[in-house]
Amino acid sequence: MKIEYEDTFVKVAGLIGGQDYVRVARALLNNENATDEEIASATGLKIKTVRKALYYLFGRSLITGVRVRDPKRGWFVYRWKAQRDQTDGFIQTQRKKVLNRLKQRLDYEETHEFYHCGTPTCQTRTFEDAMESFFKCPTCSKPLNRLNNAELKSALKWKVGQLEEELAK
Ligand SMILES: [Zn+2]
Repeated sequence: MKIEYEDTFVKVAGLIGGQDYVRVARALLNNENATDEEIASATGLKIKTVRKALYYLFGRSLITGVRVRDPKRGWFVYRWKAQRDQTDGFIQTQRKKVLNRLKQRLDYEETHEFYHCGTPTCQTRTFEDAMESFFKCPTCSKPLNRLNNAELKSALKWKVGQLEEELAK
């Protein structure tokens, strides 16, 4: 069995922009200080697509760009380089963002009661909304019953714990 090793830098690029970004990231690792055009010809992607990916990665400090004069043609070009030491920091920041969102959601689930009529196409309602409609679904008129969100809460708690552990490493 062959286990394919993929660089973290390439993985992160893939998470951000999908398959095109993966190709750009691999090209950057294979050819340090490559220009837009060199990356385009190495990947077979359109120059516009390559530039979009490069600017996006540059904007997140995942690559650096140095402006140099092209000796043959006289005009300026950028030479790009992967900043692999920035990848871990980027991943940590993303994890923190996800963790905060999950904590907010958990807090919301813990401080609210939810009601539902049982019709799959109908909305879940908060206690306040359910009370306003006298615990009768405004859409289908069936009675609104309290939803048990214990399973969701424990799943959220588990994920929060897991992320906190990863961040503490
Ligand atoms: Zn309903």
